[in-house]
Amino acid sequence: MAHIAFIGLGNMGGPMAANLVKAGHEVLGFDLAAASLEAAAASGVKPAASAAEAVKAADIVVTMLPAGKHVVAAYREQLLPAAQPGSLFIDSSTIDVASAREAHALAAAAGARSVDAPVSGGVGGAAAGTLTFMVGAEGDAFAAAKPVLEAMGRKIVHCGGGGAGQAAKICNNMILGISMIAVCEAFVLGEKLGLGHQALYDVASTSSGQCWSLTTYCPVPGPVPTSPANNGYKPGFATALMLKDLTLAQEAAAAAGAETALGRHAQEIYARFSDAGRGGTDFSAIIQAIREHSGEVQ
Ligand code: NAD
Repeated sequence: MAHIAFIGLGNMGGPMAANLVKAGHEVLGFDLAAASLEAAAASGVKPAASAAEAVKAADIVVTMLPAGKHVVAAYREQLLPAAQPGSLFIDSSTIDVASAREAHALAAAAGARSVDAPVSGGVGGAAAGTLTFMVGAEGDAFAAAKPVLEAMGRKIVHCGGGGAGQAAKICNNMILGISMIAVCEAFVLGEKLGLGHQALYDVASTSSGQCWSLTTYCPVPGPVPTSPANNGYKPGFATALMLKDLTLAQEAAAAAGAETALGRHAQEIYARFSDAGRGGTDFSAIIQAIREHSGEVQ
């Protein structure tokens, strides 16, 4: 059993912390939102009065926060000054690669080990303990973090040194954002050409157009009954989160000098959809924007 501090008990962090409790760890939690802290307490997380109090007695500190600025500020101002020497920091937030590297540097300077370990799998995966963790870690930090991550996820991939987990996450989600738009464009073109949804699905799902956006997350109702299209495009994976990840990918591409024309275009398409008030709908609802730009066809 480890003593774990869990900072950020929102949609993802709450159920992840609950799975650590289920695995027999002692988990002290903190969140700025009282409602999140109360919900976590109901699943066995011990509420702390501050982030520093949660961290004081912990061997391991897990953070699940909105963005890079929150992680860096929390590391610098609250968590590292209160941490035990030699403790292990795991940041599972999705953040920009530069902030992830800064967080690693702050931890190293304070004598702590650290990993960046963003996740894929969403709120459902967090609750079921089936997340995929993409881990960036130096030295023995990966081996130390792995058993803790296994209590919250099914697949743990060591992607390389500090920041490599965040790099893998934004590269994967750039593929996802682009491929969803490609699948949606194909369905809208099919509609214009009088091709039924099921017929296009039956062909593309067993042909070279096959991809996750089609076969797991099909953006039209019918062919894949569990996809959000069958549920009024309730997320799922919200457009706002897809836009966040595509924006992180574009920032990284600009900083690293990578030409990602389709990633940039996908980011623009999701930004327009979000600006039109659709940030809370599942990202597969982008098919509606493509239809609107094509003239309504059913
Ligand atoms: P969320 O907004 O539900 O939770 C974030 C929590 O952090 C909130 O409860 C907030 O009060 C708390 N918080 C913010 N600053 C804090 C601080 N300084 N100290 C303590 N608590 C603080 O967000 P979420 O959906 O749980 O996402 C968390 C991270 O996981 C994000 O980086 C997101 O991009 C990533 N992510 C989300 C999903 C998803 O499907 N929701 C999937 C994969 C990755």
